[in-house]
Order: sequence, then C-alpha cells, then structure tokens
Amino acid sequence: MNNVIIIGSGCAGLTAAIYAGRANLKPLIIDGYEPGGQLSLTTLVENFPGFPDGILGPALIDNMRKQAERFGTEFKSGAITEVDFSKRPFKLTAGNDVYETNALIVASGATARMIGLESERKLIGYGVSTCATCDGYFFRGKEIAVVGGGDSAMEEANFLSRFASKVYLLHRRNEFRASKIMVDRARANEKVKFITPVAVEEISDVAKGGVEYVSLRNTETGEKSTLPVEGVFIAIGHEPNTKVFRGKLDMDENGYLITHDGSRTNVPGVFAAGDVQDHHYRQAVTAAGSGCMAALDAEKFLDANKNA
Ligand code: NAP
Repeated sequence: MNNVIIIGSGCAGLTAAIYAGRANLKPLIIDGYEPGGQLSLTTLVENFPGFPDGILGPALIDNMRKQAERFGTEFKSGAITEVDFSKRPFKLTAGNDVYETNALIVASGATARMIGLESERKLIGYGVSTCATCDGYFFRGKEIAVVGGGDSAMEEANFLSRFASKVYLLHRRNEFRASKIMVDRARANEKVKFITPVAVEEISDVAKGGVEYVSLRNTETGEKSTLPVEGVFIAIGHEPNTKVFRGKLDMDENGYLITHDGSRTNVPGVFAAGDVQDHHYRQAVTAAGSGCMAALDAEKFLDANKNA
C-alpha cells in the first residue's frame, strides 16, 4: 500500500516526487516507457532557470532523479496497463505487478507523433528516428531530412547539423509554428536547407532495409519529387500518454487530461501534471511547476481523507 504513486519519471513526475518525498509521503514512481521523459532526449536546455550557461537535458533529469531519491522516492520500471479508480485505494496494474495507492499523480507525458506511413514504421531504427539526441551521431557526414515546422524541428535541424553534411528541413506549409528566433537560427545555419511546402509521402527503401530517399509532394502545386537522404528525423509533435485512462479520466479531444483547481482531475485523489495535461506551454519549467502543484494537492487530499 502506497501513500502516493507517481506515473512517469520526467520533469513533472520527478518534481512531484521531490515535494511528496519532502512531505514524508515516501512516493513510488513507476517509470513508464520513456524513463526521464522528453528532457532525457534533448540536448542543451537554455531556458530552465538557475543555469545561466544552460544544462544538458539528461544531466538536468539525472539531477532531479538524485534529488527525488535523496528524499525517499522509490522507483519501479514498467508501464501501467490497467487502472481501477472505482474505490480507494486505487489499483494499478503494470503487467504482472499490482499496486495500491491512496493518491495518484499522473505525469505520463507525451510521446513523439509519427507521420503515419508504413515505410516510416518499418524503417524506424533503420534510418528513421524520432530522437536526434539519441541517433544524430549515426549520421556523421550524411545528408538527412528533418520533418516538421515547430520548435522541435528547428532545434533538431540545428543539432543534427553538427553531424550531418546537410540537413533538409521538410515542412508541409510555408508558415512555421516554431518561434521566430528558432526559425532564424535554423535559416542562418548554412548546413540546413528549407524545403516547403512539402508532405513526405514515402520513405524508401523498405526492401533494402534502410533510408535512401524520400518522396515528396508539394502541398500547393501537387508536384512530386524525390530527395536522396540517408536518414529521416520525425519532429512533428507529440501525443499524450493517456490511453490507459480512457473512460476513467476526463480528457480533451486530443487525449490530454483535463485538470481543474490546480492539478485535480475528475477523480478525487487523482492528480495530473506535466505534458499529459498541458498541450500549450509544454516547457520543462512549467512541467516542474505543475509537478510541484500535484504533490501539494495530493498531500492536502491525503491529509483531508486520512480516515476515509
Ligand atoms: P508543434 O509545435 O506541435 O509542431 C509540430 C509541427 O509538425 C508543426 O509544424 C506541424 O505542422 C507539423 N506536423 C504535425 N503533424 C504532422 C504530420 N502528420 N505530417 C507533417 N507535419 C506534421 O510540436 P513541437 O515542435 O514538438 O513543439 C512542441 C512544444 O514544445 C511547443 O510548444 C514548442 O514551443 C516547445 N519546444 C520548445 C523548444 C525550445 O524552446 N527550445 C524546443 C522544442 C519544443 P503544422 O504547423 O502545419 O500543423
């Protein structure tokens, strides 16, 4: 039996654990599919307060993990496959393991979105990647493509230019969702070439087990073309990890959990923090802030429901 279980070990979950740990609640974190969350897949973080020279994402997350451990957080690997919120204690199933908890903080984050091509799925790990930090090194001296028009795509294009000889930035519109400073940085990078407005229709060659070229369609003129590249990085946003909560927790039309009065969900005793409930700000510092809120809300809930 646990006081509080936290699902997810990204910035939000770890901050919640630091606060819950310091409230003597002995939190248990269940790591999930992506331990460390999105920060562990990024490079330099320049906008987390307190680090005037920036800090590497994995180092930042590692520090948070150590800090959570220091205050008594326990960690278990595994992903939750079933939840029962019909009564307290809540019951969580992760494969063969069953956990019971009086309060729950959902900080399961969001996962990289894919274009949806069969070839993309088949070639993932064979030239197609969703993680520049993890896989950039494999593309030294090669020509590669980054798909997307948001901040992630700009950041990845710049980062990958350290390794690749050429980075083609492929985006389906001429306008960018990315902030101006990020677009300007990518445009100023002589190794990065923008190709817009294009949709990636195919990644080839599945038969050869590797990436040789992408097939493009101009979304305005319909004109088709091919572009030889040896790698494709998909950077088109993320999906919230909320499948297991469908029908149990209120969510919006995109699957993000809906919170009210701080971090409260529609189930008393279940709280949500970080990207799983935030499709707007999605920053490390806002995720950390909401993790803090969830822990404080959970503490208050446990206090008020001691004898319930
Ligand atoms: P995003 O802002 O949602 O952008 C996703 C991009 O992918 C959009 O340009 C979108 O095109 C495109 N896209 C979506 N689905 C597509 C599909 N099926 N096929 C082709 N293109 C598709 O996601 P993000 O770039 O990952 O950024 C997420 C959040 O994190 C943002 O708030 C961002 O500011 C933040 N972030 C900040 C930093 C930083 O400051 N260092 C770095 C990374 C991310 P359309 O525009 O046409 O819809």
